[in-house]
Amino acid sequence: MVGGRSDAAAMIPFIDSTAAQWVRPNLPDYAAACRSFSWESVLAELDGLPGGGLNIAHEAVDRHARGRFRDRVAIRCLGAMGDRRELSFAELAVESNRFANVLRALGVGRGERVFSLSRRVPELYIAALGTLKNTSVFCPLFPAFGPGPIVERLVRGNGRVLVTSSALYREKVAGVIDQLPELRALLLTDAPDHWDGKVLSLPRLMAEASGVFRIPPTDPEDMALLHFTSGTTGPPKAAVHVHQAVLLHYATGRDVLDLHSNDVFWCTADPGWVTGTSYGIIAPLLHGVTMVVDEADFDAERWYRVLAEQRVSVWYTAPTAIRRLMRLGGDPRERHDLDALRLILSVGEPLNPEAVRWGERTFGVPIRDNWWQTETGGIMIANFPACEIRPGSMGLPLPGIEAAIVRVGENGVEEIEEPGIEGELALRANWPSMFRAYLHDDERYRKCFSRGWYLSGDRAKRDAEGYYWFVGRGDDIIKTAGHMVGPFEVESVLMEHPAVAEAGVIGKPDPLIGQVVKAFVSLKEGCLPTEELRRSILGFARKRLGSAVAPKEIAFSEGLPRTRSGKIMRRLLRARELGLAEGDLSTLED
Ligand code: ATP
Ligand code: MG
Repeated sequence: MVGGRSDAAAMIPFIDSTAAQWVRPNLPDYAAACRSFSWESVLAELDGLPGGGLNIAHEAVDRHARGRFRDRVAIRCLGAMGDRRELSFAELAVESNRFANVLRALGVGRGERVFSLSRRVPELYIAALGTLKNTSVFCPLFPAFGPGPIVERLVRGNGRVLVTSSALYREKVAGVIDQLPELRALLLTDAPDHWDGKVLSLPRLMAEASGVFRIPPTDPEDMALLHFTSGTTGPPKAAVHVHQAVLLHYATGRDVLDLHSNDVFWCTADPGWVTGTSYGIIAPLLHGVTMVVDEADFDAERWYRVLAEQRVSVWYTAPTAIRRLMRLGGDPRERHDLDALRLILSVGEPLNPEAVRWGERTFGVPIRDNWWQTETGGIMIANFPACEIRPGSMGLPLPGIEAAIVRVGENGVEEIEEPGIEGELALRANWPSMFRAYLHDDERYRKCFSRGWYLSGDRAKRDAEGYYWFVGRGDDIIKTAGHMVGPFEVESVLMEHPAVAEAGVIGKPDPLIGQVVKAFVSLKEGCLPTEELRRSILGFARKRLGSAVAPKEIAFSEGLPRTRSGKIMRRLLRARELGLAEGDLSTLED
């Protein structure tokens, strides 16, 4: 919240990061790392292409396939039905070579877009890496999308190839194929034979393709990935990323995920979202660690079992999953051996202080929040393993990243030096994984930049020690009786009430005070939505936040509308409350 009030979250005691399972962090001294940082030194830790240039897939796979990690498991896919398939770095190199040759044989070349619509099976990962090797562009779609959003994205992205399964093809694509004239081939990951001249069997093409492929010279500025944003605030944008992004994937894998060569890493995000590609494919492979991939959807017991049985040591997940686990309660360590777990990270939404502390109680290690966006291509602000955690804070900027709180006025962008003042979170527009375009929307792209800054659209503030605190998305900020209220602060306090599992807060137009704060609250298991409970939550919030900021209204809700990537869609809460048009719902979870 803005307006000079002391910050409740800032008074929470720091959590000491020297808990159990301690391993010397790759980044032991944050200040020293910031002083000595250069992107050249990151590049020096990578290989570069033998023929010149920089290619993500070479750094992620081929480099290790020729080195000491060649026989190490690169990807372990846990099938939904209990099956398990593994690929070593050497095998992944050969299979992705085959896929690159399949594309070449289809006449698909540099810069052309290869989409996927697939569950998390090995073929998806092989296709991603093979596409990058071929200098084509990989564009993963979330497999739960319906036909409308699929067509819209394939058309907007000029999709040439779609990698999918027979079932997904039948269910979602066959009926709309006429609307996709630019699509040259559909590769079915599980079909033994070709269906017709366009719908082809990937296993058959792979069997006929050579396992040898020489990556063509790749310019670091060549387009590599196309990612659609989550659509939390409006229609999804198509962000273009280039091969040079690999520098940031590597640096953050080292400094934030703290990957050590004997780690087992699990990123729970689907590659349909940028997290599931940058950190669910690229970063762990770059560091030669074994990554676990779970085909199945969220299931609390299954997740605890995966963590225990796979001896996961570094776990990257999201607040929405953490809140679901919190809601169920219980102590997983009574049933599962989670001793291997040494680092837990979260991204995608603000991580409430209550969740940080729950992590510490439940796993013996706190959950480390970090902030970034589809547009940034990778982590920008993080709670580093060697730094103290301030629960509720997103942490400190990555060495090499210049962040600022800015005010955007008539004269353009102005930096706010003074700590504690809220403004827009901006980044100096010069990092390697910065998006290079919104595809086919130059004007929108240009509007994101001013005076050398990239403007994130998120509101935040920085404390005296340089930690960044999320306030809310620009569109979600509530103006009430002269105060600016960030929904995150109110939601975090509501979540501290023993009956509340989750909260979404919006502003409702009010003739007297501009907007009133209204909260939608879902309850923990076993709690009943009574009038008495409503009063108890209102009173609790008023005591913590003061009457100006506390919600005036509370509505109980079974669940909150969220994107498929797990973000609360406050714009939808608002639209429904006010009876307005609901807008683009392509990413709304079922
Ligand atoms: P769209 O741009 O289409 O509305 P989106 O912004 O949700 O969707 P993403 O790029 O997936 O799409 O998400 C980035 C946004 O997620 C950030 O701008 C921020 O609002 C939110 N976010 C990510 N990590 C954090 C975090 N640690 N704390 C608070 N917010 C976060
Ligand atoms: Mg966004």
